[in-house]
Amino acid sequence: MDPRFDKYAKLLINVGIHVQPGQTLVLNCPVDQAAFARLLVREAYSAGAREVVMRWNDQAISRETYLHAADEIFDQVRPWQADMLNTLAREGAAFLSIDSSDPDGMNGIDHSRQVRQSRVFGPAVREYREMQMSDKVQWCIAAMPQPEWAKKMFPGVPGDEAMEKLTDAIFAAMRVSADNDPVEAWRLHNGELNARKKKLTEYDFRSLRYSNSLGTDLVIELPQGHYWDGGNSTSAGGVQFNANMPTEEIFTAPRRDGVNGRVVSTKPFDVGGVIIPRFAFTFKDGRIVGVEAEDPRHRELLEAEIALDEGASYLGEVALVPYDSPISNMDVLFYDTLFDENASCHLAFGASYPTVRGGADMTEAERLAAGLNQSITHEDFMVGSRDLSIVGTTRDGREIPVFVNGNFAF
Ligand code: ZN
Ligand code: ZN
Repeated sequence: MDPRFDKYAKLLINVGIHVQPGQTLVLNCPVDQAAFARLLVREAYSAGAREVVMRWNDQAISRETYLHAADEIFDQVRPWQADMLNTLAREGAAFLSIDSSDPDGMNGIDHSRQVRQSRVFGPAVREYREMQMSDKVQWCIAAMPQPEWAKKMFPGVPGDEAMEKLTDAIFAAMRVSADNDPVEAWRLHNGELNARKKKLTEYDFRSLRYSNSLGTDLVIELPQGHYWDGGNSTSAGGVQFNANMPTEEIFTAPRRDGVNGRVVSTKPFDVGGVIIPRFAFTFKDGRIVGVEAEDPRHRELLEAEIALDEGASYLGEVALVPYDSPISNMDVLFYDTLFDENASCHLAFGASYPTVRGGADMTEAERLAAGLNQSITHEDFMVGSRDLSIVGTTRDGREIPVFVNGNFAF
């Protein structure tokens, strides 16, 4: 096996999930990745893990289940299935998941079966889910190459070569190379993200002005008391971990009614498998009032996306990613948000994360009043470019360069 996989396993165990001596690790892994799972288990025990609990999965078998299993099973949960996850979370286990699947592998299944299943499973594992979503327990998702995924990313390239290209792309994004120490590389990377989060939060910008030569000229106001989030998280037990790997973005929420101007997208946008190469949105007092796309069918698709509910036509996320980040430099579409959202400065229309002081404990009405958008959707679209400039205006009127020529000014 390529020696980079050893380094990758060490990185996921010691930085991503950061399993502690005496702690239980739950490993969710596709059966096709058994060789890599063995490396992870070995590393986990050498880091002092108490026990590794394996949860194997297989996309092809899941697909068969959704296609052919008896209909009533999608409305039931066996108590022990939920109990297993809730108990492990309560015991303070850490949850590592390996994502390695065919982006089109679930095409053609009856989507309502998936929806029904999550409707019964969600409440049953509420204890586990809440501990995970609030970062009380350590959790981490990271990817491994998969042949169908490689073919989709590199169409027309022979299978083996496509797999090599995807493997190289994943390792480049994960800062793993034959001659570096990825653990040290991530220590520096996390340090940089944290320093920027802190600096931006301290500036407490009233607004950000985006401009570039493509025709973006957009002012985004930020809510009172907002903070910048991203990078690594700290569990209830005080352990630092990286929930999503790779990660390049730091983000906050825009003020729902404070977005004005025009923004032009800079990377392909995927609407249910249809790739829209470029589009522009025009905003007035937060709402999208104009949609431009070269192909009228693309414009219609976008108009339907932002009409899903009231909040879908307002912004919910402002995320900063340097133009010269490893994923951006590759200039490929991964068809996987784990990677693609880290490729460029992006905005999202739809729901925002509660990134204002006290936001996590607010009711929906309080969040709206604080300027945070609400919606059933959240869709990232890329707006970063080589010449993107972002200037922040502080509450006392000072102008501070945030992005110069596509990269952080500090
Ligand atoms: Zn984001
Ligand atoms: Zn997002």
